[in-house]
This record gives sequence, structure tokens and C-alpha cells, in this order.
Amino acid sequence: MVNYKYAVIGNPIKHSKSPLIHQAFAQQEKVNIDYQRILASEDKFTQSVIEFANRGGLGLNVTVPFKIVAYQQCQQLNEYAQAAGAVNTISFDSDMSWIGANTDGIGLLTDLKNNQHQDLYNKNILILGAGGATRGILLPLLQENPIQILIANRTVAKADALAEAFSSAGTINSCGFEEIDTQAFDLVINATSASLDHDVPPVPDNIIGAETICYDLAYSDQPTVFINWSKKLNAKKSIDGIGMLIEQAAESYYIWRGFRPDTKPVFNLLRPAN
Ligand code: NDP
Repeated sequence: MVNYKYAVIGNPIKHSKSPLIHQAFAQQEKVNIDYQRILASEDKFTQSVIEFANRGGLGLNVTVPFKIVAYQQCQQLNEYAQAAGAVNTISFDSDMSWIGANTDGIGLLTDLKNNQHQDLYNKNILILGAGGATRGILLPLLQENPIQILIANRTVAKADALAEAFSSAGTINSCGFEEIDTQAFDLVINATSASLDHDVPPVPDNIIGAETICYDLAYSDQPTVFINWSKKLNAKKSIDGIGMLIEQAAESYYIWRGFRPDTKPVFNLLRPAN
């Protein structure tokens, strides 16, 4: 029986849940896939991708720290990869050239809209952090026509640069954590990596009101510190990034195979308590 080859490439990689998620999608499609983890050293990314393609590999997910180099190496890019300046999904054309996509933003949007039933039109959105993940989610968020997106970051210059880069796509402002308007936002997205260090960015408590939805891009088997912090402030809803992870994977799977998996059973597999 055909065994279609896919993989996720990164460093580190052994923690990745992508093989589990994609195997569950393949079961739904009733095909056999061989989905491996590829650990690549910093200077061996390109070589590893070429070797994978030469072994019959059909598609790759790309994770930290290779999303930017993947963007630089792809010969074709979709709209979201172009805007993000980063690629998390590679497919190969018939001439073996690389086609890059970025599904992180669509993953977040699909989780917010389809799974969490949040409409972003006319909403006031605060994003904490101005790294690669923020760059990846800005275009799809702005396409939902919020009132504004305010980006707050520890290094203010990075927030300013992102606001400038995306200014033609909608109303977008930037500041440092201590300059955030003291008002409750409709949606607060934590796109810093502070949760990974069990830290919450130093932001005023009153950005969270009774109607505020809080979303941490980070995820873990235990609630993140940001989730605990927002619950303590009685946010309307506190959501972590596991849904985004599954939805970005589903979009990658669709790009590779033209099959759109049902993500609900996969969410239940990873979060059996829900
Ligand atoms: P980057 O390294 O590109 O950016 C990190 C950001 O976090 C920067 O803005 C940095 O600020 C800020 N930061 C780091 N530590 C702190 C701290 N202690 N206090 C305040 N700010 C801090 O990371 P990414 O953008 O790639 O990833 C961000 C998060 O998103 C990670 O938790 C990652 O796991 C998650 N993610 C989740 C996905 C999903 O599918 N759920 C997909 C992609 C990412 P400064 O600029 O000042 O250094």
C-alpha cells in the first residue's frame, strides 16, 4: 500500500505533536502516511529538505528556528507566507522547486471563529509580542476588519516596525507594555514567548474586562501562567494555543492532500477532558 511521506523539521523537535495530529488526519482520509520528525542542525536545513524530497517526501512542516530560512529558500510563496516573511508549510512542485505557505494565522483565525465562535469585526484587539508569530497572524486578523489592532512589545521598536509594515492592511498601532491604553480590550492575544518561561508580560490588569477574550498562543498540558492570570481577572474566556496548533496543521494537510480533516476529534484526542 502507498505510504505518503511527510515530516516536521525543526530544532528541537522531539516534543512536536505534529506526527500525532497528522496521523489522525490520515486515518480520517483512510490513507497511510509516514510522518517523521526531522532534527536539523542550524546549517543543515536546506540539505535536509533536499534529502527529504529526494527520498520521495511530499510535504514538510517547518518549526523553530527554520521558518525564516524556509521563507528565503522557497521559490514560490502564498499570500500569507509573503506577508509573514516566514514559512511553516513546504510542498514540492513537479520540478522539485519549493512552494511555501504560512498556515499559522489561518490556524488562529479558524480556532477563534469556528471553534470559539468569536467574530472579530469591529473588535478592539491587543496583541502582546512582536516576534515571528505576531507577524504571521497580523494579515488574517486585519482581514477580519477589527476597529484596531494595538501591538505592545517589550522592545517597542519591533512593535513599531510591524505596525508600519502592515499599515496598509488596516488600523494598527504600537507601544510598549506600560503605554497600553488603560481600557478593556475585546480580545487580548499573548504572542510573547513569556509563557514558556512561566512569565506574564508586565501589562496593566484593566486591559481585561468582563467581556474580554484572552488567547495565549502558547499551550501546555497544564494551564499557562497567562491563562491563570486572565482567569483570575475574570476574563470572559481564556483559551490556549492548542486549537491553533491543530487548525494550522489541518490547513497544511489540506494544502498537501486537498482533504480537509475534521479537527474536533483531534482536539478531543489531545485534550480528553474537553
Ligand atoms: P519569537 O521569539 O519570534 O518572539 C518572542 C516575543 O516574545 C518577542 O516579542 C519578545 O519580546 C517577547 N518576549 C519574550 N520573552 C518575554 C518576556 N519574558 N516578557 C515579555 N515579552 C517577552 O517567538 P514566536 O513569535 O515565534 O512565538 C511566540 C509564542 O507563540 C511562543 O509561545 C510560541 O510557542 C507560540 N506559537 C504558537 C503557535 C501555535 O500553533 N499555537 C504557532 C507559533 C507560535 P522582544 O521583542 O522584546 O524580545
